[in-house]
Amino acid sequence: MKIGLIGLGAMGKPMALNLMGAGYEVYVYDVRDEVVKELEEKVTGGCKTVAELASKSDTIISSLPNAKIVEAVMTGEDGVFKNSRQGTIIIDMSSVSPGSSKRIAKKAEEYGIDYIDAPVSGGVSGASAGTLTIMVGGKDDTFFKVKPLFEVLGKNIYHVGEVGCGDAIKMINNLLLGCNMAALAEALALGVKCGLSVEIMREVISKSSGRSYALEAKLEKFIMANSYSGGFAVDLQHKDLGIALEASKEEAVPLPVTATAAQVYETARAKGLNRRDMSSIVKIWEDLIEIEISGKEH
Ligand code: NAD
Repeated sequence: MKIGLIGLGAMGKPMALNLMGAGYEVYVYDVRDEVVKELEEKVTGGCKTVAELASKSDTIISSLPNAKIVEAVMTGEDGVFKNSRQGTIIIDMSSVSPGSSKRIAKKAEEYGIDYIDAPVSGGVSGASAGTLTIMVGGKDDTFFKVKPLFEVLGKNIYHVGEVGCGDAIKMINNLLLGCNMAALAEALALGVKCGLSVEIMREVISKSSGRSYALEAKLEKFIMANSYSGGFAVDLQHKDLGIALEASKEEAVPLPVTATAAQVYETARAKGLNRRDMSSIVKIWEDLIEIEISGKEH
């Protein structure tokens, strides 16, 4: 199988290296020449254009920032569809809305191309370790053809339905993560103001019904360590809540909690926390009511 990987960012780069390590032929492309140059020695080859990559690949993976870019890369004049052979399989692993993947997949059909959505969870560490959770939407036979490739990239692989269903479940997951983290941040602020230490809240709540993944994964590692680099960026969480709000309009499902949580991340962006881990939203309350939630380590 000849694989082309478009988008060599935090996620795409380790995925390309893992596929190469598993013995696939791997061609790469990114708008940033420097990352292609950096990687081309370690993979089968770097490409100067999407068209060059498409001509060399029978399966194409994309890991791109947002739906607008995915659509342009796929359907543009110099894009994947116009330059791929019939029968090519395209796997979009970006986090985008279900509606967007469905629209792009419909266009792919006109070119005789199979398009599936396969967003991931597990972050950069999961991408590097090849332990991602991969949520796939697409036809059964297409899924089974590329399943071995998913087994290189991830540990938990779910085929959850037709095109768009992978994006849908990823969207639901990240809606919960974003809302849980926003709830944890304001709860910590209230607790501190009421005289509780962050340590005691962690100890008691982690054994009580208010516990969550946000508490387990974020409180000690980021908030108590006062170290917000790495992790899952505020910008990405903000984008993912935006995807859910877009779907809420398309499907006419009110999402009042998500809409409020999205404003918390918007506030964090206004404070310049864009690239910091999403748990850095506690800084909003630290500044607003002059309390300390973050630990003192850094
Ligand atoms: P990133 O910003 O690090 O990488 C995106 C890459 O796409 C960059 O290298 C950029 O130069 C490239 N790019 C942009 N426009 C392009 C174009 N027109 N043609 C080719 N390349 C182009 O992002 P990331 O963190 O690697 O995330 C990729 C996707 O995975 C996103 O949709 C993100 O939401 C999702 N995701 C990220 C994480 C994470 O922890 N970083 C976790 C799960 C899912």
